[in-house]
Amino acid sequence: MSRRPRIAAAVAATVLFAAVGALLVLTTPWNPLPGDVPGGPVKADPGLDFSPAEIARSRAFDSAVNPPAYAGLLTGLVLILVLGFTPLGSRFIGWTTARVRRWPLRVTVAAVALTTLLRLAGLPFDIWSESVLRRYGLSTQEWPEWFLDHLKSLAVTWVIYTIALLLLYALMRRFPRYWWAGAAAGGFALVVAVSFLYPIAVEPVFNKFHKLPQGQLRTDLLAMADRDQVPVKDVLVADASRRTTSLNAYVSGFGSTRRIVLYDTLLKSPPARIESIVGHELGHAKRNDVLWGTLVGALGVAGAICLLHLLLTSPRLLRRAGVPQEAPDGAPDGSNAAGNSNAAGNSKGAGAANPRSLALLLALVAAGTQIGTPVQNLVSRRIEARADAHALDLTRDPSTFVSMQHELSVRNISDLNPDALEYLLWLTHPAAPDRIAMARNWARIHGVALGVGR
Ligand SMILES: [Zn+2]
Repeated sequence: MSRRPRIAAAVAATVLFAAVGALLVLTTPWNPLPGDVPGGPVKADPGLDFSPAEIARSRAFDSAVNPPAYAGLLTGLVLILVLGFTPLGSRFIGWTTARVRRWPLRVTVAAVALTTLLRLAGLPFDIWSESVLRRYGLSTQEWPEWFLDHLKSLAVTWVIYTIALLLLYALMRRFPRYWWAGAAAGGFALVVAVSFLYPIAVEPVFNKFHKLPQGQLRTDLLAMADRDQVPVKDVLVADASRRTTSLNAYVSGFGSTRRIVLYDTLLKSPPARIESIVGHELGHAKRNDVLWGTLVGALGVAGAICLLHLLLTSPRLLRRAGVPQEAPDGAPDGSNAAGNSNAAGNSKGAGAANPRSLALLLALVAAGTQIGTPVQNLVSRRIEARADAHALDLTRDPSTFVSMQHELSVRNISDLNPDALEYLLWLTHPAAPDRIAMARNWARIHGVALGVGR
């Protein structure tokens, strides 16, 4: 294969990743709470607000959920890496698609088979986690509903993966040298589309929504959004209690379609606490966190696709993954359609364009995602802290903020003392004691009195 497309892909990947890096450095609120704290900043201390029993319960829960979480993550990663970086995955695809002739069907069967295999490998750990959640009263589901939810989520995975991979392999076959340019643009568009469509198309698969009825709470929340100059169309309630006892709220949609969604589990909380949570969500809306996140994600995906081209055209990697690099005569991928390939020395369905490269592709995606997670979490925690600061600015009520954080983390049995690895791998939000410490610092900066919580 000629060097020119590889050089172009390398330049494109560098530019896109540089753009992602620049956006992250420039738009991440590295200091979410501006201002000097009189007497120096307060440090996080679970002992100030949580009773010894609450701390002990959090610790016990943490050591019960960690084994299935780590074991599940490790199993999934090892399985896809072994499938992708040895000929096993290529053989598995060859075996599942042995009776399938046409390439689109082979891609579909391979995508469904691989995603199902990975999900099945994770299933024992998911069941283990779920039984821990139930033991601690965090899950309200019965097993049949739980399995149905898992099946639905697997079906969503099938649909998204199949569509994305069909488009990708079509491009690879049609434009063996420059497919990555189209795929990068398509990947960018797909991330944006999913971000816009998810609340409309996917959320209703898992939850039912109804309007929060007229009343004081609805009026207060809409008034707060108005005061914050964040246009909100509606306040909805999701029937989350069907599944969970945990408390949550979020804002979805953009501009005139924006709506506040409350978990029905939240409605029993005092109105001031609900306002504190909604204030945080309005902070996300006001700063367009979802929009920026979508842009960064879309640029990252585009960059990753360019990088993917470099890796998938490496003869060494293809050999290691057992992907045929020449299309056999009368190829079993059934591409005998009109017209020769426009790439010199690269026939249709060979190398990366062969559906048997799918395991390698998924392994590269899994590795990239895993490498990106700690960075994503780091940035996410800063953005969440800024939304907390926004809630405090809006409500000017740090004691309710602290009591809400206390209620949230006791109800959700949050980790009160995460270790470095947990911060890296799992924590998209600051831990509750960090969030409470920030409220204390906010109170000091603004001269608002705030006692010790418990
Ligand atoms: Zn948030």
